[in-house]
Amino acid sequence: MKNYKNFKRFLLISFMAGISTFAFQECTIDNQKADIYQNILKFTDGIKVINTHEHQRRPDEFGFDSVSFYHLLGQTYLFHDVVSSGLQQLNIQTSGINDVYKLWEQYGGPLDYSRATSYYGHFVKGFQKLYDFTDLSFTETNILHLSDQILVNYSNYSSWFDSAYNKAGFELMFLDQYWNPFNSQVDTEHYALVFHINQLVMEVNTRPASGETPHSIYKEASEEGFAMDEFDDYLNYCDHLFNTYLARKAVCVKNSLAYSRSLKYEEVSYETARSLFEKPSASLSRVESETLQNFIFHWIINKSIEYDLPIQIHTGYLAGNSNYLENSNPLDLDNLFVKYPEAKFVLFHGGYPWTSEFVAMGKMFPNVYLDLVWLPQISREKAVLALDEMLDCVPYNKFFWGGDCAFIEESTGSLEFAKSVVAETLSKRIERGHLTEDVAFDIAKRIFRENAIEVFKLEEKLGREF
Ligand SMILES: [Zn+2]
Repeated sequence: MKNYKNFKRFLLISFMAGISTFAFQECTIDNQKADIYQNILKFTDGIKVINTHEHQRRPDEFGFDSVSFYHLLGQTYLFHDVVSSGLQQLNIQTSGINDVYKLWEQYGGPLDYSRATSYYGHFVKGFQKLYDFTDLSFTETNILHLSDQILVNYSNYSSWFDSAYNKAGFELMFLDQYWNPFNSQVDTEHYALVFHINQLVMEVNTRPASGETPHSIYKEASEEGFAMDEFDDYLNYCDHLFNTYLARKAVCVKNSLAYSRSLKYEEVSYETARSLFEKPSASLSRVESETLQNFIFHWIINKSIEYDLPIQIHTGYLAGNSNYLENSNPLDLDNLFVKYPEAKFVLFHGGYPWTSEFVAMGKMFPNVYLDLVWLPQISREKAVLALDEMLDCVPYNKFFWGGDCAFIEESTGSLEFAKSVVAETLSKRIERGHLTEDVAFDIAKRIFRENAIEVFKLEEKLGREF
């Protein structure tokens, strides 16, 4: 009996020891995982980032005299979630921008419903990095405090932008000025020029009838003294624009036409395009207009090959609160990838929600590159899965990252989000024994910096060392 009692005690002690050993091992493994993630995150903090896509604007370009939290909110992606939650679309600039209590009354509820979204999360991250902001959510009170700081920072915008840019870890941003597409002069200390080509394609069929005042691209051409009577005149002016941008050290071409039409660009003969151009623009059917546009985009691809400019293309999710998502399916670009092996096509945004299609294109075509730009803000969790699938399928010398934001707080938050996506994806691979830390560091460097320098030939184009 006594032996039996001792035996029971022995079993109990062994069991307890087993539990504590198991708990200790679990705890150690958790700590190791956290260390791997933190090591990669720390490594990414040391990378001087080449950001392949931004829309940074000065406050005066928005027409702001001073800037508060609500001014910024009105320009964020987050505001689209606020509208999506059911808030009636309001013009934040005219609804009493200085009445912060009234604004919280209007926006606070819808804003709270978005507290779990990536649009919200990355916006918070920007303030955590650049301001003394430690909360996870915006409240009526902390917004007041933030607004005071924003007001002071934006009272000297250039100095604030420069210090935030450096604190965030940027070395260069590619600037796509879709709101001012013919402006080829940019602040070259922070930006590399992008040639936004939407107008060349979409406005070809806005040719003024005789006696009509030219507008859009025809107005630009007439102001520069270019005749636009013949189809070749039009192409000649487009070539002139290419040369203007090249002279100002443009690093790539950008097409975001999925916001306006399908990504399907069928082949069109020169004769067909010329005869459509010669018809009065107002008489062209939608199909005829698109046919003419298709020719122009093919012409632009040929010029981009001639001038050695990679072509960035918006694919997938469309910002805002109403559009035709099916226009942005990356599969529609397939014929271009086959036809132009010498071009460099850079697909944007993970093609969300067609992320596997996006990855498959990068895998199949040597002339297709994959940019994670904006995907971490659309869905952070999807970005983790997408990067994992990209690493599974595609050599990592073809990946880039960009922010895609209108002001520095949001770009900073988007970089913080992207770093966490890269660290999470890579650390899981290390934990599984599929990757060494050295290779993980190489991948991170490539995504945030080196691929952009190499593929866009930044040293050669910008005439400086990176
Ligand atoms: Zn963009």
